[in-house]
Amino acid sequence: MIIRNLDLQPHQTMACASQAEAAARVRSLAELREALAWAAVQGCPVRVLGEGSNVLAAERVDGLTLINEMVGLQVVRQSDTTVTVDVGSGINWHWWVRFSSAQGWHGLENLALIPGTVGAAPVQNIGAYGVEVEAFVEQVEALNLRSGEQRIFRHKDCAFSYRDSVFKGAERELWLITRVRFCLPFHFSPVLTYGPLQSLQNPTPRGLIDQVCQVRQQKLPNPWQMPNAGSFFTNPVVDQAQADALQKAFPGIPVFPAGQGRCKLAAGWLIDQAGWKGQSDPESGVGTWPQQALVIVNPQKRPRSDVLAFAERIQEAVEDRYEVRLEREPRLFG
Ligand SMILES: Cc1cc2nc3c(=O)[nH]c(=O)nc-3n(C[C@H](O)[C@H](O)[C@H](O)COP(=O)(O)OP(=O)(O)OC[C@H]3O[C@@H](n4cnc5c(N)ncnc54)[C@H](O)[C@@H]3O)c2cc1C
Repeated sequence: MIIRNLDLQPHQTMACASQAEAAARVRSLAELREALAWAAVQGCPVRVLGEGSNVLAAERVDGLTLINEMVGLQVVRQSDTTVTVDVGSGINWHWWVRFSSAQGWHGLENLALIPGTVGAAPVQNIGAYGVEVEAFVEQVEALNLRSGEQRIFRHKDCAFSYRDSVFKGAERELWLITRVRFCLPFHFSPVLTYGPLQSLQNPTPRGLIDQVCQVRQQKLPNPWQMPNAGSFFTNPVVDQAQADALQKAFPGIPVFPAGQGRCKLAAGWLIDQAGWKGQSDPESGVGTWPQQALVIVNPQKRPRSDVLAFAERIQEAVEDRYEVRLEREPRLFG
């Protein structure tokens, strides 16, 4: 069950050259506990990998890498207006979006085609086109990788915010999320505030999913054909005074309210205007995607160090021009 020296390149969409010292595929709680017992005897670190669409893997990942393949789906209860469903964390996210919508359980349609597993979705509170997953997460069931304790994190315990949760913060790398409980309405009320969705008139749930997929396919490279990890930087959040100063210095800069006197800037715009859209490093081939400056691609499947070196050049260019530091979205793995 323990695999030594597993090649991790096919296990992450950025396809960085990488090898796990030890790895185990876990399909059940029993397999998970068995793998953790092995790691405890070795005294080695344990890490969790889903579909690897939001990680940058080291060339050598020490300790045990758990590849999460826990499936299963159970309706917990239904009311007149909502259904509550427990979903195995190893299930593919896009499959779950299509399945739930086809059952007449709505809300997730805007999140179609986001790569990855159900279990990783709460970790960074995935979001797209005006919807964040937290709106539909009732609770998260997780197992402590060190103590083996099983715990329910209610919505309020998850500390969800923009691309963030307790699983990226205070409880980072401590838990494997085993199941996510969703509460989904039967009534379909589409969120069409985002530009390319505004043209839709009374879409069906399937029509909305199809439109989201089409928009995504036009803007984003298919990660299995052109290695990438989606948006490489989060949109920076600054205070109102800094936003005002930036608007004065750079008329046309997009600024969005982010609540509590804070403002969100568009990282893609900053990169584009700093002249980095479609640029690549001639040696490593690492570059930004011509249709979306926020996406860094790694066509030659180079090691993580090359990707980080290129990203650092963008961070410096943006900081020099706007005095705003871009934060990386994908997590360092190992
Ligand atoms: C082309 C592309 C487009 C994308 N678009 C979006 C988008 O629109 N919106 C968005 O929010 N994200 C987007 N992403 C990022 C990514 O799809 C999400 O973050 C996704 O949830 C990652 O899932 P994963 O299973 O691949 O996680 P992984 O990349 O395997 O892991 C990500 C992190 O979560 C941890 N983790 C994974 N599973 C678990 C678990 N079960 N329990 C505890 N920790 C876990 C890992 O340890 C790691 O730290 C995109 C990525 C790509 C490649």
